[in-house]
Amino acid sequence: MKRAFCVFTTLLHERKVHIGSKMKISNMKDWKFKEPPVYAELPIDENPEYNVPVAVKNAVFSKVPTEPLIGKVHLVCASEDCLVNVLDLDPAVTDSEEFVDLIAGKYLPEGGLTVCHRYGGYQFGFWADQLGDGRAHILGEYVNSKGESWQPQLKGSGETPYSRFGDGRAVLRSSIREMLASEACHFLGIPTTRAAGLVVSEEHKIWRDKTYSGRAKQENAAIVLRVAPSWYRLGSVEILLKRREPHTMKAMVDHVIKNYFPQIGVDDEDKYVKLYSEVAHKNLDMVATWQGFGFTHGVLNTDNVSVLGLTIDYGPYGFIEHYSRHYVPNSSDDLGRYAFYKQPEIMLWNLEKFAEALQPILTEDQKGKIAAVGDTLEKYVTDKVLQTYLIKLGLTTIQDGDDELVDNFLTIMERTRADFTATFRQLAEVPQSQLTDKTTLESKWSLNKVQEASDWSAWVNKYIDRLQAEKVSEEERTSRMCKANPVYVPRNWIMQEAINDAENNDFEKVRFLLKLFEKPFEPNEEAEKRGYSSQPPSWSYGLKLSCSS
Ligand code: AMP
Ligand code: MG
Repeated sequence: MKRAFCVFTTLLHERKVHIGSKMKISNMKDWKFKEPPVYAELPIDENPEYNVPVAVKNAVFSKVPTEPLIGKVHLVCASEDCLVNVLDLDPAVTDSEEFVDLIAGKYLPEGGLTVCHRYGGYQFGFWADQLGDGRAHILGEYVNSKGESWQPQLKGSGETPYSRFGDGRAVLRSSIREMLASEACHFLGIPTTRAAGLVVSEEHKIWRDKTYSGRAKQENAAIVLRVAPSWYRLGSVEILLKRREPHTMKAMVDHVIKNYFPQIGVDDEDKYVKLYSEVAHKNLDMVATWQGFGFTHGVLNTDNVSVLGLTIDYGPYGFIEHYSRHYVPNSSDDLGRYAFYKQPEIMLWNLEKFAEALQPILTEDQKGKIAAVGDTLEKYVTDKVLQTYLIKLGLTTIQDGDDELVDNFLTIMERTRADFTATFRQLAEVPQSQLTDKTTLESKWSLNKVQEASDWSAWVNKYIDRLQAEKVSEEERTSRMCKANPVYVPRNWIMQEAINDAENNDFEKVRFLLKLFEKPFEPNEEAEKRGYSSQPPSWSYGLKLSCSS
């Protein structure tokens, strides 16, 4: 198949790691945390009965040891980019026992302080009270060679005061999905937490009812090593409102401003207004990137929305395949609250709750200013989403009628059940002059669907006029669009195949995908052989994900 302007690369032969001029740490014993970690500034509860569910008071964290996985532990995969560029680690460390032990919750580097974060949240529109890190432990603070501060966190590392009815563990399938999506989203350009590595135990079994059918099965326990600058969520502030702890709230919010929003002065009298504005805009920018890649989070509760505007807590998420704006990947979301098209609106709802949560530390004047910021957000996100689609179409400005141009394109895709990712990408690969050429379109499986629409030619004519209005050359269009429209995204069926193999101790596909998603915009020979940008197999249609993880 001829692919205009796009170069093949063979990832399998590309194992070279660009370590740069800085030496990377190759002995895990030399990899140390900062002491004390930045979060030690905030109140940490130290109840020795760490694995008993309890309503924690007057604290932002609980000091809790990790509970190591039992039995033989295998490294499923590790992200070379995250190791090298975030954690300063030489990928050779993945062969060491300490690296596997680190992720298995058995080895804590020097300077480590394991804590679980206390937060609450609105789940599906209702206040759910205390949630917190029920199966995650922040290990410490790592300041890398670039001076960036990162907090490695284990997910699936045992019981905590926040475990409620859970066992503190995570299964392999959901851990693979989190690992792959975190790294894939990063390389797509979606702000996200990162994932450095994933281990699974051969003998540590946990019970899960995957389809909620009353037939629980044993699955292997796994742990992901996630990494983020910090792990605060909107629900981190909400719990302090509901429990009437304004002093702790002020301490935490000031800490967040000082450490994560240095552009806001700690003595600025409008610092909380500016924080609100930053958190809102960052999260709305993030949602706009989701809309652009067809990413649907699945559980957009306020406890799953980061204060830093990062995609967090990958559960029953999905990348849309045959396009439907009503796409809901989560099998438990019967009402479609978190459907694809609703994400901007839901984020606005979540941000309203965030404004409400901050009230106890605001003056009347600041409350008014935050409300005024709030009034601008709907237009902001609407424009941002439109802009995202225009970039995908090779355009750079917003002009009258653009919302209709985009909407008509999406409607055509929806009516013809064309694939979201493939349609945009194939549109990039076909020259303007051939966009209504039947034979050319027949060679592109997803464009071949859209051309069935009776208004396809009319749309193409409008699109070409619009490109001309902006004087976009053919070359510019192709190059812009190939950078904005990926060839590969983590499709559920692709991940499911990799999960099936991994559950039989074959990690090849998971590792291949992790590497592939480092370059999602470039066609890859091996991935093409595996059909990763071809029409999805029929068994994958309507694949839904449960929250059981
Ligand atoms: P999630 O749906 O993964 O965002 O989780 C919602 C809440 O449930 C968080 O407080 C989690 O820590 C908690 N949780 C989820 N699964 C488990 C589990 N297996 N054990 C303990 N807590 C869990
Ligand atoms: Mg969560």
